[in-house]
Amino acid sequence: MPQTSIGDMTRQQLNRAAQTADLDPDFLAIIAHPKRVLRVSVPIEMDDGTVQVFTGYRCHYNALRGPVKGGVRFHPDVTEDEVIALAAWMTWKCSLIDLPYGGAKGGIACDPDALSERELRHLTRRYTTEIMPILGPDIDIPAPDVYTNARNMAWIMDTYSMLTGHTEPGVVTGKPEILGGSLGRKEATGRGAAIIARELVQALKLDMKDVTVAIQGFGNVGSYAACTLAGMGARVVAVSDKTGAITDENGFPVEDLCAHVEESGTIDGFPGARLPGEELFSLDVDLLVPAALECQIHKNNAPHVRAKMIVEGANGPITPEADHILEEKGTIVVPDILANAGGVIVSYFEWVQARQGMAWPLEDIRARMEGRLKTTFWEVWDEAATCKTCLRMAAYILALKRIEQTYMFRGLFP
Ligand code: NAD
Repeated sequence: MPQTSIGDMTRQQLNRAAQTADLDPDFLAIIAHPKRVLRVSVPIEMDDGTVQVFTGYRCHYNALRGPVKGGVRFHPDVTEDEVIALAAWMTWKCSLIDLPYGGAKGGIACDPDALSERELRHLTRRYTTEIMPILGPDIDIPAPDVYTNARNMAWIMDTYSMLTGHTEPGVVTGKPEILGGSLGRKEATGRGAAIIARELVQALKLDMKDVTVAIQGFGNVGSYAACTLAGMGARVVAVSDKTGAITDENGFPVEDLCAHVEESGTIDGFPGARLPGEELFSLDVDLLVPAALECQIHKNNAPHVRAKMIVEGANGPITPEADHILEEKGTIVVPDILANAGGVIVSYFEWVQARQGMAWPLEDIRARMEGRLKTTFWEVWDEAATCKTCLRMAAYILALKRIEQTYMFRGLFP
C-alpha cells in the first residue's frame, strides 16, 4: 500500500484544479475546508452484556448547492481525515453531475465482520441518534458505502422516523425497495461505469467489439460493470477480487461468473487461468476498470499499466503520482467523480421519488441516468480539449466552477 492518504490526494487534486480553473481566492479558501465535522461516541451493549464504545463521524463538506449527500462506511480504518476526503469527492461529484446536493460522508471505525446482526443494528441506530441534529431529508441524506447496505439504511430510516414521529423515506437512499428504495439503484454504479466506458470508446473512434477489459474487484460495482460491458460487446478477459485474479483470453461468460460469485461469494473456483491479483494491472488489455478500493494504482505499478483506457469504478483508485505517470504515458483516465456517478444519480432519483410519493419504472430510471452521464461525459471531454488538460482536471474544473457560481450568487453569510 502506498504512503499517500486520500486526504493528501484530495488536497493535491484541489490545488492542481484551482490553478487551472483560476478560481476566486475567497471561494477557494472556503472550499478547501469542510463545513462541519461531527465526531460522536457510539456506545452499545454487546451480546456478552459488556458495553463497547465506537467512534463515528459525519462530515458535511459543502452545502452551497443543497442538502448534503454521501455514504456511511463501517470499516476498521475509518478516520476523520478519510471521511472529510470522501465528503469532498462527493461534493465535486454532485456538482459535476449537476445534482442539487452538496457532499457528505460518514463512518464508524469498527469491524463489521466481528459484530452480530443485533450489535450492527444497535450500532446503526445509536449512530443515527447521535448524528440526528445534522440529519434530515433537507439537510443530509445518507446512503450505503463500504460494508453498509440496504439493511443499515432501513434502520437509519426507522430510527429517524421514530424520533421525528412520522415515516420519512426521504432521509436515506439505497433503502430496500419495499421501503421506497429505487428500482435500478443496485446496478447503477457499475452500469454507469460501463456507459461512460462506451462513450470513451466512441470518443476514441474505437469499436466496443474490439475492446478487451480487465476489472479489479468483483463486488457490486465490478460485477455490474462486467455484465453491462459484456452486453455492449466488449470482452471481459480478466477479473480479480480479494482472493486473486483469473483470466480467459476468449472472454468470460460473465453471467455465469456473476452466478458463481452470488453463490460462493468470490471468483475463486471459476474456470480460468489464475494469477496473483496485483498482476491484473499489467495485463495487455484495452480497458482497465479498478472497482475495489482506493490507492490501488500507485507510483510503483503505474509504469507497468498497458491499458490505454482506465475508467475509475472505485473512489480514488489512482494516486496523484500514478496519475502523473499515466498522463505522461498517454493513458486516458476517466475520473471517479464521473465514472462512478451512476450510483448517486439514481440515489437522487430515489430521493425525488420519496418526495413525490411515486415509484418510477426501471426504463425511465435507466434512460434518465444514461442521459445525465452521457451529457456530462461530453462536457468533460470538450472541457479537457479546450483547457488542454486531462479528464480528471476537466471534471474538477467544471465541478468547482459550478459551486463557485453558486457561491457568487448566494454570497458569504452574513
Ligand atoms: P463491494 O464490497 O461490493 O466490492 C468490493 C470488491 O473488491 C470485492 O469483490 C472484493 O473482494 C474486492 N477487493 C477487495 N480488496 C481487493 C484487492 N486488494 N484486490 C482486488 N479486489 C479486491 O464494494 P462496491 O460497492 O463494489 O464498491 C467498490 C468501490 O466502488 C469502492 O471504492 C466504493 O467506494 C466505490 N463506489 C461504490 C458505489 C456503489 O454504489 N456501490 C458508488 C460509488 C463508488
